[in-house]
Amino acid sequence: MKVAKFGGSSLCNAAQVKKIADIMKSDSERRIAVVSAPGKRSTGDTKVTDMLIALHANHTAGLPVEEIITDIIGRFAAMVDELGLEHQLLENYEGILRSHLANINEKKRLLDALKSCGEDFNAQLVSAYLNKIGVDATYMCPGDAGIMVTDEPSNALLLPESYARLEKLKDAGQVVVIPGFFGYSKSGQIVTFPRGGSDITGAIVARAVNASLYENFTDVSFIYSADPSRIRSPHKIEEITYREMRELSYAGFGVFHDEALEPVYKQNIPIMIRNTNAPEIEGTKIVAEREYTPSMPVIGISCDEGFTSLTMNKYLMNREVGFTRRLLQIMEDHDLSYEHIPSGIDNLSIILRSKQFEGNDKLAAVIADIEDTLETESIHIENDLVLIIIVGEGMKHHIGIATKTTVALSENDINISMINQGASEISMMFAVAQKDAQKALHAIYYNYFDES
Ligand code: ASP
Repeated sequence: MKVAKFGGSSLCNAAQVKKIADIMKSDSERRIAVVSAPGKRSTGDTKVTDMLIALHANHTAGLPVEEIITDIIGRFAAMVDELGLEHQLLENYEGILRSHLANINEKKRLLDALKSCGEDFNAQLVSAYLNKIGVDATYMCPGDAGIMVTDEPSNALLLPESYARLEKLKDAGQVVVIPGFFGYSKSGQIVTFPRGGSDITGAIVARAVNASLYENFTDVSFIYSADPSRIRSPHKIEEITYREMRELSYAGFGVFHDEALEPVYKQNIPIMIRNTNAPEIEGTKIVAEREYTPSMPVIGISCDEGFTSLTMNKYLMNREVGFTRRLLQIMEDHDLSYEHIPSGIDNLSIILRSKQFEGNDKLAAVIADIEDTLETESIHIENDLVLIIIVGEGMKHHIGIATKTTVALSENDINISMINQGASEISMMFAVAQKDAQKALHAIYYNYFDES
């Protein structure tokens, strides 16, 4: 059986819902649909999830909420009307929103409960429409399906015991429509995954039922070898491994959520990216192993902005037992996660996402702690760094990737702030200044993909 996940753009209005219903109907192996909340209908439009977040913000600030509730229900009303569904659905939706607002006092819990409504209402709507067109379908709440998660608001992690319960979905006997993006904690609270997390629900369900394929329907057919908004007509990727995808989606390849790879890769379930607007195209397939062409060692190049590096210098650092452990302790004390730690004998850099330092004097406090605890000779801070990451399974069998890249950068007068090659040898990272990002990406991309 196949599990199909439909993203927000595939469910943004009635016309799109009709398309996904046809997609479900056209293949009897598609037994489970996981749905997102309605996304943007055009540029400038607002996703329903963002409307729900705005509702929460107004409610907690004591500002008026009626207009936002009307707008949210209005998004669903337009679909219910055009699809010819019962208005009772809309009354239920409004009742749920108002009941959350009235009964959940803890701010973060309320936010998660409200955020879950976009997916939850859409799943009910899709199930009703499938029945209307003759597909025997049922809506299933993630709690009833068995999606049990940890308790940290907006950052749910699946509890492994969920799989045993979820496996029963195999025997449902009808098409099951499950809202993505949230689960229930042991104490019965609604907890959402990080943003974009319906991909994660889809992957969990696909693994639980041991699906033959996890289809991820979105508004593009392919993942490209670079961000199409930065590189004109980049190469389309037909097959990519889980490991390559993990490296690229970590670094800003937005098509597939990086946390969604873990459940499926453990079970070796292939993922196919498909376009709701062109479902006949077999899009990018994500698999465990792929044949690579020796002349094409690189599969994709990402460019991710917004990093800060802290470089510490201290003579004989290499001889000091526990230096890195104490540095990491400081990071933990300040609740900071890091991305890379390239090091030399007397210096070490730690690269972090800059947004973690926003809004207070956290950076100054971290530096003070480093100076006190580690007695460094100097600390150099570099903001506005961009990480360009080159990814490809073929890289480990290919000599000269670093040379080819550094030559391309030096020919374009671009200074490299840092280089890091992971132990896996399928990715290599180059940090450059934000001002050089676009030029650097071009120089590297055309070196690998289109030398002309
Ligand atoms: N609706 C949620 C979001 O906008 C989750 C998702 O679409 O995957 O982040």
